[in-house]
Amino acid sequence: MSVLVYVEQVEGKFKKSVFEAVSYAKAIADAQGSSLTAIAIGNIEVSELQELGKYGASKVLTVTDDQLKTFVNQAYAAVVAEAAKKEGADIVVLSNSFSGKGLAPRIAVKLEAGLIDGAVELPKMDGGQFLVKKTAFSGKAYAVTSLTSAIKVVALNPNAYGVKENATEISIESFSPEVKATDLAAIVKEIVRATNKVSLPDAEIVVSAGRGLKGPENWGMVEELAGLLGAATACSKPVSDADWRPHSEHVGQTGIAISPNLYIAIGISGAIQHLAGVSSSKVIVVINKDPEAPFFKVADYGIVGDAFEVVPRLIEALKAHKG
Ligand SMILES: Cc1cc2nc3c(=O)[nH]c(=O)nc-3n(C[C@H](O)[C@H](O)[C@H](O)COP(=O)(O)OP(=O)(O)OC[C@H]3O[C@@H](n4cnc5c(N)ncnc54)[C@H](O)[C@@H]3O)c2cc1C
Repeated sequence: MSVLVYVEQVEGKFKKSVFEAVSYAKAIADAQGSSLTAIAIGNIEVSELQELGKYGASKVLTVTDDQLKTFVNQAYAAVVAEAAKKEGADIVVLSNSFSGKGLAPRIAVKLEAGLIDGAVELPKMDGGQFLVKKTAFSGKAYAVTSLTSAIKVVALNPNAYGVKENATEISIESFSPEVKATDLAAIVKEIVRATNKVSLPDAEIVVSAGRGLKGPENWGMVEELAGLLGAATACSKPVSDADWRPHSEHVGQTGIAISPNLYIAIGISGAIQHLAGVSSSKVIVVINKDPEAPFFKVADYGIVGDAFEVVPRLIEALKAHKG
């Protein structure tokens, strides 16, 4: 009995969502009275691997096979499943990130495990039960799901649990599972990076704008506000459909689902398909000139006003505050 956590790296570095998944997995291991092992794929500096010890991992298995240089769903899932077997892990944890969403069900199939994706709380494990609260219906509701399988896979929603330090001595061990050609049937040939300065899925603050901004020429103030806040920029679907902004910024049911600590929505009506991707944000601020805009119903703070007056004033106030 033990817990395994998959730690996704980007260019040799771990993101905050990884430390969050390790913190979460450590809490499960403690509740179970077992230990936590991490599995990392790719070339990662020892100092970066040691960071995982800060959040409770007592061992990290590292896989540095050249065939796994870029993310390949099937092959990565096979490696994580092999690591789980090697460690005798009965619970596998990973972040429900963009790649985690593809990976989690594949790991579950390979381990014949039950799967919870979109977990938002620690499991309740009293009396032999394993109950996990998770998002359902594109984030519009929660479900409490019971897993009865011997092996369990849990994909944690980013920003749902938080990063918790739990310093543990960590050992680093290399691991070389066999990579089957059948698991490399679809491989990434080229990665074209979106130009966003802050990565949208991982951003703590997101400044988003919609059709209320009238045209792409008006995004200067959105970018300036985002820059001052260290935020990523996002947009509604019609905005990216009209090519005012790149598709990588489109959030919602058919775009990226995000859960930042702060989501600022400017000139966005708050259609149900938009809310599906942003409603799990911790704090929502809405700026809209229509007091009846549906977005106000889910807002923590609402500003009824013209974006072309409100946003420049916000920028001015932030500059004064910073100065
Ligand atoms: C199957 C399906 C999937 C979809 N998926 C998505 C999705 O993933 N993401 C998504 O966003 N949408 C999605 N949509 C579209 C969605 O239904 C809405 O049409 C869309 O979200 C509206 O975008 P908007 O709020 O930018 O524009 P609008 O609905 O046109 O709203 C503009 C808002 O700006 C306000 N406004 C206007 N001028 C100003 C001003 N000067 N200052 C302040 N406020 C102003 C208006 O009051 C209005 O509330 C989907 C639709 C379907 C059918």
